[in-house]
Amino acid sequence: MQQTSAPDKRTPYWWEDAPVRPLPETPLAAKADVVVVGAGYAGLVAALTLARAGRAVTVLDAMNPGEGASSRNGGITSGNIRMTFDQLKRRYGEGRALAIEAEGKVARSFTYDFIRSEGLDCDFQLTGRFYGVIGQEQYESAARSAEALQRKLGIDSFAVPRAEQRNYLGTDYYRGGSVRMDIGGLQPAKYHAEILRVTLASGATVHSGCPVTAITAEGAGFVVTTPAGKIAARQVLICTNGYTDGAVPFLRRRLVPVRSRMIATEELPADLMDRLMPRRMMASEGKVLGFYYRPSPDGKRILLGGRDASQSGDPAAPTLMLRKGLIGLFPELEDVRLSHSWFGNVAMHRDMIPRIFDHKGLTYATGFCGSGVVWAPWIGSRAAHKLMGGAQGRSAFDMRPPPAIPLYAGKPWFMPAFIQGYRMQDRIALARATR
Ligand SMILES: Cc1cc2nc3c(=O)[nH]c(=O)nc-3n(C[C@H](O)[C@H](O)[C@H](O)COP(=O)(O)OP(=O)(O)OC[C@H]3O[C@@H](n4cnc5c(N)ncnc54)[C@H](O)[C@@H]3O)c2cc1C
Repeated sequence: MQQTSAPDKRTPYWWEDAPVRPLPETPLAAKADVVVVGAGYAGLVAALTLARAGRAVTVLDAMNPGEGASSRNGGITSGNIRMTFDQLKRRYGEGRALAIEAEGKVARSFTYDFIRSEGLDCDFQLTGRFYGVIGQEQYESAARSAEALQRKLGIDSFAVPRAEQRNYLGTDYYRGGSVRMDIGGLQPAKYHAEILRVTLASGATVHSGCPVTAITAEGAGFVVTTPAGKIAARQVLICTNGYTDGAVPFLRRRLVPVRSRMIATEELPADLMDRLMPRRMMASEGKVLGFYYRPSPDGKRILLGGRDASQSGDPAAPTLMLRKGLIGLFPELEDVRLSHSWFGNVAMHRDMIPRIFDHKGLTYATGFCGSGVVWAPWIGSRAAHKLMGGAQGRSAFDMRPPPAIPLYAGKPWFMPAFIQGYRMQDRIALARATR
């Protein structure tokens, strides 16, 4: 019997073990060296870095800390850059393109060192990631990329021909793929809760339920306004990413919040999990609107995510579409029940590269384009070093702001049409590949 009713829960599966909670209310300080807006991964790691260097830091978040994307994501340490090396080279020149690629490797190592050295309890497992392709052309390109990663950056990566695919994933959907062993999975809400723990221990102050409503330049610094009062700051760092609102209109005109949705299956029998995910690897695929999926950290469920074209409410259609995608990959799951379905916002922009930038004295760490598990902590830490001055903060991602989007002030009216267009591209590519 196919499930037609809604999943039991419309909140993230991750919140079962690590629910997001308000922090105890404390009065707002009158001043700080640095105010950070947004208490996701980026804002907290920036605050931690600054506080450990002796700065007085106040972090303000409109919701519960982590309630943005940082406790809702897939937990896959993908660290993707959405431009290919050739595209990067054309736009930034070869030197900058190489520096960006190399910093990607450093950022992922930073994440793993950070988890280890701080003792962050977040179920991290370096499982590797399988990338499924949908045609011979894509297979050849994935094989070339895997070989280049191995040769240029020493990353353990290799092509997987279709005949060997079932050693990695129990599906015949793909025409083979590639594996990168430097990518793994963590429990994102636990990861956030643990970063919050060490950030509070560092002496930074974090306020939840405290939306910033305005930031105004005053004297040599800024005054940050909230319903709980005003706070004067020498420097302000904006880490609001896919939840950016009218308090930062400059950023709002440049970032497009796009819904990404995830579903979780009920617990599956161990022998079925052994067939579908024999290596318990992370997975993604080579479609424009590809799915990303993974086993739960206990290896008993499959969690799958993808784009969601809805813009308000919590309609049933996107969940059913993901369920259909899951069954397309694994027909054995035809009768599976879903336990959870939830969504969050990722932040896309025209340049598609995470970045740090300044504008009118404010500093921004943002634009993670759906890959912030690795990028947000790294860019947050780089932004903190930049605010403190000195060479340690230098980053290839310290760039100009992303360009503003014409006729756009924060409501992405064009997204449903874009998503339909991308779906069409995927259908055409799939039809060509299977001809
Ligand atoms: C469903 C889903 C799946 C994903 N899967 C992956 C994945 O597998 N791998 C991966 O690498 N990435 C993934 N991502 C992306 C990743 O979660 C994000 O890139 C990352 O969490 C961004 O962190 P952040 O700190 O920049 O922003 P967020 O965690 O979104 O935090 C921004 C914060 O800013 C606050 N804020 C906004 N405006 C104001 C204001 N005016 N005043 C005060 N506070 C404000 C918000 O309340 C929010 O808490 C996924 C995202 C989603 C939604």
